Amino acid sequence: DSLLADTTTTATCGYCATGCGLRLHLRDGEAVGLTPETNYPVNMGMACPKGWEALRVLDSEHRATHPLVRDPSGELVQTDWSDALQKFCDGFRKAQQNHGPESVAFLSTGQIACEEMAFLGALAKFGMGMRHGDGNTRQCMATAVTAYKESFGFDAPPFTYADFEQSDCLVFVGANPCIGHPIMWERVLRNPNQPDIIVLDPRRTETANAATQHLQLRPKCDLKVLYAITNVLIAEGFVDHEFVNAHTSGYDDLVRCVRDFSVESVAEESGLDAERIREAARTIGRSGAVSLWWTMGVNQSYEGVRTAQAIINIALLTGNIGRPGTGPNSITGQCNAMGSRLWSNTTNLLGHRKFECEQDRVDVADILGIDVGRIPTEGSWAYDRIIDGIRNGEIRGLWVIATNPAHSWIQRNELRELLGQLDFFVVQDMYRNTDTVAHADLVLPAAGWGEKDGTFINSERRYGRIKKVKRAPGLALADFQIFRAIAHAWGCGVMFRGWTDPESVFQIMKRLSAGRPCDITGIEGFEQLDQCGGIQWPWSTEDAQRGAPEQERRLFADGVFCTEDGRAKLIVDQITPTPETPCDDYPFWLLTGRGSVSQWHTQTRTDKSPVLRKLYPNQPYIEINPSDAARLMITNGGLVSVRSRRGEVTVRSAVTTSVAAGQLFMPMHYEEANVLTLSHFDPHSRQPSYKDCAVDLEPL
Ligand code: SF4
Repeated sequence: DSLLADTTTTATCGYCATGCGLRLHLRDGEAVGLTPETNYPVNMGMACPKGWEALRVLDSEHRATHPLVRDPSGELVQTDWSDALQKFCDGFRKAQQNHGPESVAFLSTGQIACEEMAFLGALAKFGMGMRHGDGNTRQCMATAVTAYKESFGFDAPPFTYADFEQSDCLVFVGANPCIGHPIMWERVLRNPNQPDIIVLDPRRTETANAATQHLQLRPKCDLKVLYAITNVLIAEGFVDHEFVNAHTSGYDDLVRCVRDFSVESVAEESGLDAERIREAARTIGRSGAVSLWWTMGVNQSYEGVRTAQAIINIALLTGNIGRPGTGPNSITGQCNAMGSRLWSNTTNLLGHRKFECEQDRVDVADILGIDVGRIPTEGSWAYDRIIDGIRNGEIRGLWVIATNPAHSWIQRNELRELLGQLDFFVVQDMYRNTDTVAHADLVLPAAGWGEKDGTFINSERRYGRIKKVKRAPGLALADFQIFRAIAHAWGCGVMFRGWTDPESVFQIMKRLSAGRPCDITGIEGFEQLDQCGGIQWPWSTEDAQRGAPEQERRLFADGVFCTEDGRAKLIVDQITPTPETPCDDYPFWLLTGRGSVSQWHTQTRTDKSPVLRKLYPNQPYIEINPSDAARLMITNGGLVSVRSRRGEVTVRSAVTTSVAAGQLFMPMHYEEANVLTLSHFDPHSRQPSYKDCAVDLEPL
């Protein structure tokens, strides 16, 4: 198809937070094909199968092409936008009138553009009077956000992707970039230093197979092992005292805490050889440039924040921050999770301010030209508290945008029941066949990536462009246009009179960022983002006066952090007991996670591509160790029943040594996984702990 093109343009990929550049091949202004962009600093001509298939999933027969409303017989039937907007306003107004303004909430996403997130958050909170709204980033990034905020004073991932190529030692904790972030892994492979690669993971993943040291620890022992490594670093003289004294606080408390985690005792609890723990610590201590990377194996845990901070501590203790090849680096999941962190206006006020801070509210009101009284004085409830609110009748109306909680939320059967209790439930999505749409009273059809304009921010803080290169089908509209239409229908359109298009909102975001650690006042606009291959935040007016933005920049090179005293905090804590452990009735650990490079989240998009579907098993499966399979007489590919205290599912077995005996692994992409998971959360970040529950299984 690309041969038919008469011109090309570039855009950032709309799947994962790597943020690869794609070259879109256009004919008469419409995309007819794409290739990975060779001149983009992120991916240098590479893309994974999802990126290659990004256009294909727009043409699905399952697209939501018209607003849909549930009729008295329970069927979703087509309607027009005028009727849909009226019903939207009537439904939420009625709930607010009967049960108070805080009785309605929204659940947003890391999948829409920054300008759309800012519009949604401002519309819902300042225009419609909602206090509560959270994002599906609570399911993936909340732990990293909280960890960075507490340790650095700001949610500030310090790295740039060049660090993959410049480290002498890379440590991956609960991360499998070979399939989760394959282009980042390609950059590891380009590292000329023959680096040590240390992987902490209970599974022998693709990344663990490529590691020089795999610490195959028992589930939920990661914090203990990291403390034991810290203990060795201190005991064997690997601490960079000059850096620690000048730039951190909390060292004495840290020393006292980790003293309790002797290598021998942790080795016994975690199933590791003590010498392997020492060897990992010594490798970190002796390397000149160490980068430590984590993803969902850390974030999706009941003690994720402290685990992330144990990683941050190791980087700080050894002075591995702010230099090439270093950093405690959280890799984001969704294409615009970082945008959600800065601009969703949910638990943080726009630009990562505090709702609770009067000066912050005044500043935002001034910039937006609104009455400060319209800004809530408290942040939103977290996602799980909103769900509790539905359970106990405090939340009566819910608006879900570009996410699929009926599949993805932990212990999802209960959530599906709760969605049925709502007085009014609206889903805004590209597709009309998601698990969540099945429960909606009203469906608003949205344009997808490739059908609208805006910016995404990738894991290394790079703002990149997305572009409209296709018409959305039927009456589907860009989320931005839907928010504008709702603002007018609700009667608060005047508040958003300057929010005419994504670029005008980007200019508002620049003003909101001024003087903040995420300052982007130096970015001229969309055209400059195109020309520069994206720009990493911060990029202030003062930065811009020094010259053009460099392609790779990292934070904290000067050792000054965003805390009040400018020092990073070394934070340690007691170990928390695991809420549910294997027992006689449920003797296996169930681990969940990413299953394949070609699958994405709940498959709402990837399952619309015939090519991607061929690249992964179309039936749900569970990985089981050969010794367990033999004992239970389970054959590879046979059907098994898997049971937890929450429910039971039937899946196929995949007998493999990638899981240890006594453990099972099920990809999260199949809706069966969250029938089994246990609803428990990190107390600091409120992130669900998807990676640990007890199950039983038997052959069918
Ligand atoms: Fe898109 Fe991520 Fe694949 Fe890059 S690695 S092409 S950003 S899905």
